[in-house]
Amino acid sequence: MNAFSFYNPVKLIFGKGQLAKLPTELSTYGQKVLVVYGGGSIKKNGLYDQVMAALKEVNMQVFELPGVEPNPRLSTAKRGAELCKKEGIDVVLAVGGGSVIDCTKLIVAAAKYDGDAWDLVTRKAIPKDALPFGTVLTLAATGSEMNAGSVITNEETQEKYGWGSPLVFPKFSILDPVHTYTVPLDQTVYGIVDMMSHMFEQYYNEATNTPVHDEMIEGVLRTVIETAPKLVQDLENYELRETILFAGTLGLNGFLRMGYNGDWASHNIEHAVSAVYDIPHAGGLAIIFPRWMRHNVHVNPERFAKLAVKVFHVDPTGKSAEEVALEGIDRLVAFWASLDAPTNLADYNIDDSQIDLMVEKAMVNGKFGNFNMLDAEDTKAILTACL
Ligand code: NAP
Ligand code: FE
Repeated sequence: MNAFSFYNPVKLIFGKGQLAKLPTELSTYGQKVLVVYGGGSIKKNGLYDQVMAALKEVNMQVFELPGVEPNPRLSTAKRGAELCKKEGIDVVLAVGGGSVIDCTKLIVAAAKYDGDAWDLVTRKAIPKDALPFGTVLTLAATGSEMNAGSVITNEETQEKYGWGSPLVFPKFSILDPVHTYTVPLDQTVYGIVDMMSHMFEQYYNEATNTPVHDEMIEGVLRTVIETAPKLVQDLENYELRETILFAGTLGLNGFLRMGYNGDWASHNIEHAVSAVYDIPHAGGLAIIFPRWMRHNVHVNPERFAKLAVKVFHVDPTGKSAEEVALEGIDRLVAFWASLDAPTNLADYNIDDSQIDLMVEKAMVNGKFGNFNMLDAEDTKAILTACL
């Protein structure tokens, strides 16, 4: 492991009925609240009414920013920041999935920044201040509810980048598995693919001697793999939703990456794909990650073999590390296919016509990846294998 400092100040409030804590938690930060949400799922499933009733209990003055897109857009975050400045908002509340939370992170930082919000995403400017915000999570996937990262799409320039700042950790996040009952089957599967991908990104890192991390990641992955097939048959099962919700948060709240940097090349390539085609983040990951794995087995076959044995129960007897590794990757592909996740870019009608553009976008900051550095040629080979 490398030397590290660990900091995560998010108050995690987890379990059935925990929305009851919202009035007290939120009103600590002031009286004027901006409630940010997505395309209407919270109005359909009744959560919107519950949140509004909770805010009324403490007489908060409510402003709203509805309509945050999946793959949240810069223009929406800018509208939110403008509203905060104009109305003198004290605190922001994100009610939704990763997109709503990521958009809120840019809103709270841009509300305290005088330049163009895109500067914060491109790291042209470092946030110096931010409004406080809390979240009510409705979809298990990104871990955004307990981290300080955010991914924003600039729809005008077709760019999608991740950025982060310790100033955009949520003050609190309320996670009630019941709020995820209405997540449709496809989004449930995307969430599972995304959280598994986060764990893979961290499993393939630049460090040595990480036995505790390895056991934690392998354990959470095994649990997700055991739980997911049951959940897709029984979407309103409390225990199954609870397990997946907790796994998603643990997957990217920093616990599994103390002392090293994860790889993150597959996420980088996916961001390039969804910047050009606006496909669901985890749909892209389900296609890209196995190809990234096959492309990189040669870097450390034993590492891939370990995952194959510990997580996918491959029998290593009489096989080379590389054979075991490839069998593990095949089992991952079969597992995601069994959940009906997409397997090829053709599933989204994506052909090779924009491959060079996607490679260019992935390469915008030069070579990338911490387990293995990829160049343009590697990226093109991986994307070609995805077609
Ligand atoms: P999402 O984009 O937030 O939501 C996907 C869809 O699910 C939306 O249409 C949403 O509808 C719907 N939905 C959410 N909760 C629901 C519920 N309880 N019932 C019914 N429908 C529901 O999905 P996500 O996977 O959480 O977030 C994806 C974004 O996060 C991507 O932009 C990705 O790049 C980013 N990401 C961020 C991080 C991070 O650490 N910050 C990590 C990985 C990925 P409504 O809009 O109507 O609510
Ligand atoms: Fe992700």
